[in-house]
Amino acid sequence: MARAAVPGGLTVRRNWRQAQLVERRPETASASTLAFEVPGWPGHLAGQHIDVRLTAPDGYQAARSYSLAAPTNGDRIEITVQRVPDGEVSSYLADEARDGDTVEVRGPVGGWFVWKPEDSAPVLLLAGGSGVVPLMAMIRSRDGVSPAPFRLLYSVRTPEDRIYDHELRRRATEDGGLDITFLYTRTAPAAETRSVGRITAEDLLRYGWPPDVEPTCYVCGPTPFVETVADLLIDLGHNPTRIRTERFGPTGP
Ligand SMILES: Cc1cc2nc3c(=O)[nH]c(=O)nc-3n(C[C@H](O)[C@H](O)[C@H](O)COP(=O)(O)OP(=O)(O)OC[C@H]3O[C@@H](n4cnc5c(N)ncnc54)[C@H](O)[C@@H]3O)c2cc1C
Repeated sequence: MARAAVPGGLTVRRNWRQAQLVERRPETASASTLAFEVPGWPGHLAGQHIDVRLTAPDGYQAARSYSLAAPTNGDRIEITVQRVPDGEVSSYLADEARDGDTVEVRGPVGGWFVWKPEDSAPVLLLAGGSGVVPLMAMIRSRDGVSPAPFRLLYSVRTPEDRIYDHELRRRATEDGGLDITFLYTRTAPAAETRSVGRITAEDLLRYGWPPDVEPTCYVCGPTPFVETVADLLIDLGHNPTRIRTERFGPTGP
């Protein structure tokens, strides 16, 4: 197996493995969670991602990155794929893949954008759209094993776009150490008091952790979201070394 060192002392595993689709769950009209069995899966940390490779009958191949959505669970891994209009790989995974289908996966990848249960510092999670996926892996990994308080600010266009909606609400209700705030950019529920719009410094001050709490901040989503939020955090006085970012830009060739 070829390996390469990455920051944080972890390794990137470069070999491709067969992955069989064993379950799929719709999350929204355009996003689905897919569970795969990957014999020999080495385990992973919350925040890491994999590469998924599809091969057409004529040999054409396409590979894209997807964050791991759930903690290590033997040979089973989960990803959540948001369909991109005319997207080559996301359309297949979100709409067409069926139980029993096989793809190839490579990973886990990444050593910086990770959360470990032994990290007891407060955590501020900032998600834009499908950027909630690796942050959900962190929330799920924390469950019952870490006292670290978490706050999630989740920017979505409308209530219908909330991925993991029921699970997030249930966890926030049952778990006093987890606060969740939805920030709507286009349409909000009738009872919402915040005006619709993109995330602002006021949102971070009102719903996030203040800088003097020294939270570790994880920001994930489309590149413009990530860059805006990282700048806001720094302007508010958060320590740049405690801000970790993951950009969900295009990953195809
Ligand atoms: C580290 C990492 C982790 C990721 N994790 C996830 C994840 O958990 N869930 C998820 O749904 N996606 C994730 N992505 C994005 C994913 O890798 C693909 O880029 C996305 O699924 C689109 O691939 P596609 O083949 O369908 O689109 P393509 O056929 O590659 O592109 C179709 C069109 O959509 C545009 N486009 C491509 N990607 C994006 C994008 N991400 N946002 C907006 N427009 C785009 C292209 O410019 C093009 O115009 C991640 C990306 C990275 C870098």
